Amino acid sequence: MQSTTIGQNMRVHGRAFSHIASFHPEITALRRDLHAHPELGFEEFYTSKRVHEALKVCGVDEIHTGIGKTGLVALIKGRGTTQSGKMIGLRADMDALPLTEHNDFAWKSATPGLMHGCGHDGHTAMLVGAARYLAETRNFDGTAVLIFQPGEEGYAGARAMIEDGLFERFPVQSVFGMHNWPAMRPGTIGLNPGPMMAAADRVTIEITGKGGHGAHAYQTVDPVLVAAHIITAVQSIVSRNVKPLDSAVISLCAMRAGELSAMSVIPGSATLVGTVRTFSSHVQDLVERRLTELCQAVAIGFGASAKVTYERMYPATINTAPEAHFAASVATSLVGRERVVRDLEPSMGAEDFSFMLQVKPGAYMRIGQGEENGVGSCFLHNSRYDFNDDILPLGAALHASLIEHALALPSI
Ligand SMILES: [Zn+2]
Ligand SMILES: [Zn+2]
Repeated sequence: MQSTTIGQNMRVHGRAFSHIASFHPEITALRRDLHAHPELGFEEFYTSKRVHEALKVCGVDEIHTGIGKTGLVALIKGRGTTQSGKMIGLRADMDALPLTEHNDFAWKSATPGLMHGCGHDGHTAMLVGAARYLAETRNFDGTAVLIFQPGEEGYAGARAMIEDGLFERFPVQSVFGMHNWPAMRPGTIGLNPGPMMAAADRVTIEITGKGGHGAHAYQTVDPVLVAAHIITAVQSIVSRNVKPLDSAVISLCAMRAGELSAMSVIPGSATLVGTVRTFSSHVQDLVERRLTELCQAVAIGFGASAKVTYERMYPATINTAPEAHFAASVATSLVGRERVVRDLEPSMGAEDFSFMLQVKPGAYMRIGQGEENGVGSCFLHNSRYDFNDDILPLGAALHASLIEHALALPSI
């Protein structure tokens, strides 16, 4: 079998990879240009324009802009004609983070306070690379739907595209996405046939007591004391309400009450903010109910009141088993069985590709990018992170191969 080697140990099989490797410098240049021009969710004006230009050069058949504000979709039709109505979706995210970059290479962020700290510049470049290969070769039977989405980092850009009619306009049979992973070696791909990422919810607990003099606390209802009891009590939910074989995390990460300069002023209110992570809706429902009951009851016990606001931000990212098995077999055809992890441990992080998987079958994968000697191993959302350009052709080839296998030309 034909195979091509890139980087230290990335040996990849197949025509798609060797073809894409021939224009690796161009995809790298695009990736670095995007890295130098980071933009926040729904503000990816430069990025979507740049992607639009690149897709035109690639020769895709159609480009649809303004879906979910700054999102865009490219269509590429295969040369087969027997299943012309069949469509498969591939998705990349385009946004950056409100983070100051501490790298000093030539392509570092040109915008202070903004940085591609999650590698979405690389995801976008990989999908453009796949577009070029698919448009040049068209060895498939149906339509490839390439989805460039805005605002993954907390803006629910995937939902915005869906609400804008993404899947009515482009009724794909299944959809695939991938995220670089610094803790996995380049040339490796990981996924599982179920939950990949957790649901991420936000909880706000507003405690109202009665302020007063710290020396005359008996005249007050101290909301700081109530907050302290709530912080401790909510940890009983995971240990005493959630079944031990189910998974959940409750983290109260911020607290605001009083003034640091006011040594003897008991404030009238206190606020706690945190996050809840779960994989299943029944655990999510349980945690929401117990949090609300417990916080209110603890507050009442001290003569205070607590208002609990529970917001469901991103649902859990759950692969559908047939599509996960399919994607794993396509990944295996590229990198070999020993470099595909098919039972990847889920992460308690979250991902808005979950919105697409709520309405379409599909799979979300991790693509390794961290070398053992340190290149690409700095973790996501770190000010020294950078996408490892060595994996661009593999990510692009994986996208393209999903299309070529899912929409295979009839054998002669
Ligand atoms: Zn991120
Ligand atoms: Zn990300």
